[in-house]
Amino acid sequence: MERTLKPSARSRVLRVPAYAKVNLGLEVLGVRQDGYHELRSLFQTIDLHDDVVIRPRRRGLEVRCDHPDVPQDERNLALRAALELQRHAGIERGAEIVISKRIPVGGGLGGGSSDAAAVLMALDRLWGVGLGPAGLHGLARRLGADVPFFLVGGTALGLARGDEVYPLHWQVRGHVVLVDPGRPISTAAVFARMDRSLTPRENSNKIFRFVSSDLEGFRAFGILANDLEQAALEEAPDLADQVGRIRGILIREGAALASLSGSGSSFFGLYDDARRARGAQSALTAAGFIVLRARTVSLGQYRRSWARSLGAWRGGAGFEPVKEPAPWRSRTSRSSR
Ligand code: ATP
Repeated sequence: MERTLKPSARSRVLRVPAYAKVNLGLEVLGVRQDGYHELRSLFQTIDLHDDVVIRPRRRGLEVRCDHPDVPQDERNLALRAALELQRHAGIERGAEIVISKRIPVGGGLGGGSSDAAAVLMALDRLWGVGLGPAGLHGLARRLGADVPFFLVGGTALGLARGDEVYPLHWQVRGHVVLVDPGRPISTAAVFARMDRSLTPRENSNKIFRFVSSDLEGFRAFGILANDLEQAALEEAPDLADQVGRIRGILIREGAALASLSGSGSSFFGLYDDARRARGAQSALTAAGFIVLRARTVSLGQYRRSWARSLGAWRGGAGFEPVKEPAPWRSRTSRSSR
């Protein structure tokens, strides 16, 4: 039975949405001297999210999650985030973390990384550490290459291991149709496969061209690709057939971009309006796929969501809700909210 909290304690419980991401583009440039891959990633948060409830405690850290494939011990990235912050700040206080999973696990949608960033942000506030997103960056990098992005959100460029994150002035706004093949793919296995075929190659610069181009409308998204797709489909050959059908339907229904997210297994289409997105959802559902629909979450929307969840941010560096940068209207047509 849940203990009834006194009003003062109740007000200190934080409920935060941990948003998923898709990779609008992903380039693997090579293997670095430290063994990690040199990447260029165009990240985009979407409004599909886990719910993370964080309740401070006097002592001890605990994580609970309702998904059978998510560990509830120190292998859980959210719990590791709490431990890292506790150690870093020399804090003895604890917390209970409860995760309701909605983001498919092992889907290339960054669910674990987003949960971890959410815990860093929330405990930074609840424990009064006051580092803010900029000060939490180092801890986030140690937890995983995708974690720093979730301290930023919106449309952002990820360089180095994907952990050097630059929010873009132009934010993509659109509708996302996600196909969840219901089978996880291991990111490590995909990169290992990629290494076997990776030859030093000409830098394609597609993502830089996209970011800096004056291409207008849908043509801009046409140059983006995910370099991990081939290796992911070799790792999961049972998906190869399905991916051809999924891509065909997404494009037939008018997607500006149809791509694998991260190392898979989720595949997504980006649309400029809700009607097209609904059309794609119906066609894919009729073809027997499990489909989720989402909207992009821009940098400003992401920051406002955090400001709502955490209350006024005091003492933390660099996390005031900011004026929304200009949306990428010309690229996603007139879809906006
Ligand atoms: P990655 O590219 O980091 O592997 P992903 O988006 O493909 O990310 P996740 O849903 O983050 O996949 O899960 C990847 C693995 O991490 C799974 O094996 C899962 O058991 C483990 N994991 C640890 N903590 C979490 C968490 N809080 N949420 C989801 N998975 C977690």
